[in-house]
Amino acid sequence: MKQHMLFKVFIAMTLAALAGAFAGTEKTLFSVPLVDIFGLIGQLFLNALTLVVVPLVAASIITGTARMSSEHSFGSLGIKTFSLFIGTVILAVLIGWFFVTLLAPGEGHTMVLKEAFQNPAVSLNLEKQDAFTKISQIFLKLIPSNILAVASQGQMLGLIFFSLLFGFFIPKIEKGPSDVLLGFWKGLFQVMMCMTHLVMQALPIGVFGLFAKVVATTGLDSIKPIGFFFLTVLISLAIYALIALPLLLKFLGGVNPIRHFKAMGPALLTAFSTSSSAASLPISIECVERRAGVSNRITSFTLPLATTLNLSGTALYVCVATFFICQAYGIELSVSLQAIIILMSILTSFGMAGIPSASIVAIVMILHTAGLPGDGVALILAVERILDMFRTVVNVLGNTCCAVIIAKTEGEGHVLAHG
Ligand code: ASP
Repeated sequence: MKQHMLFKVFIAMTLAALAGAFAGTEKTLFSVPLVDIFGLIGQLFLNALTLVVVPLVAASIITGTARMSSEHSFGSLGIKTFSLFIGTVILAVLIGWFFVTLLAPGEGHTMVLKEAFQNPAVSLNLEKQDAFTKISQIFLKLIPSNILAVASQGQMLGLIFFSLLFGFFIPKIEKGPSDVLLGFWKGLFQVMMCMTHLVMQALPIGVFGLFAKVVATTGLDSIKPIGFFFLTVLISLAIYALIALPLLLKFLGGVNPIRHFKAMGPALLTAFSTSSSAASLPISIECVERRAGVSNRITSFTLPLATTLNLSGTALYVCVATFFICQAYGIELSVSLQAIIILMSILTSFGMAGIPSASIVAIVMILHTAGLPGDGVALILAVERILDMFRTVVNVLGNTCCAVIIAKTEGEGHVLAHG
């Protein structure tokens, strides 16, 4: 059944590529542009997936934390999880830094790039702020003043903080109300997963709409002028996803990487077509639990956290893109400037929303912090949409690997073990 679904999704992607290339932005059906029809289909699918995300994140973190707080394993699992997140993000950023320095995609094209992309219309209108204001904004997001406002805006960092505390205290109150609360959040989690299951049936249609729109609006021509940057990002992502992560999976998780990749197929394809790791979360949970055999105890805690705190593909991309912009503008990359960019790429990826193009804001922030022109981001906008698809796949893959590795350290043997 699952292989059947993957097959359908591949067919949908092939049809989408053909339909998108045929339609472009001009062709119409009953005078409605085809690209708008593709967009509507894709957006409906994306909405349906995102619809469950806020209650799902709250319910799964609350139930996961409550369970661990009653077992007194909260501390050790929490430390392991955060260490693995930080470790993988640092690894990803260093791989990106290595390749962007080695291949130097922006160097040598300085003038050409500047002229080709000088576009005064592109300005992201972000005010210049000092470093203190930026850092304090991250803390203010972590501890918000109104949980309902946070939930309605889908701000994950505040929601996670509230859910961790809420779940932690559930087992500490009287047994009666504690059981009622736990039952409620468990029920909510299960209903959200059932809804996800239903939405997944529409995966091929949703993928078709999303992918056809990208092909129709972003032709391959946009890649050419900054093809070398495009390749540098893809090579770095590939080394991280196809070499570093499999090694971690094999040696830390005791899992056969190829079997893991296959098992995560639906989640990775969803990430590719939606460019949103938050929207892919329900399907990631489903894949890691049902196809990799990891317990709900681990997935309900690690995966929702990972969607905000472990965007390793994004951190890698932010690092490569910022270096590229500096190279293209001919800015001298002193050791301290390199260190600032690397550190900021790591920090800004924590707490970033897993939504399309979230990286762009981080890149502008880093450029400002380093005293560089934020408008430099215009250089990469042409390939932003396509690279977003790839880095989101890497984000989701990294998250599932972390979940499997943590499960192994907790003594869980699972179905994708060697052999
Ligand atoms: N689209 C990415 C995600 O959802 C975030 C980004 O890199 O822009 O994971």
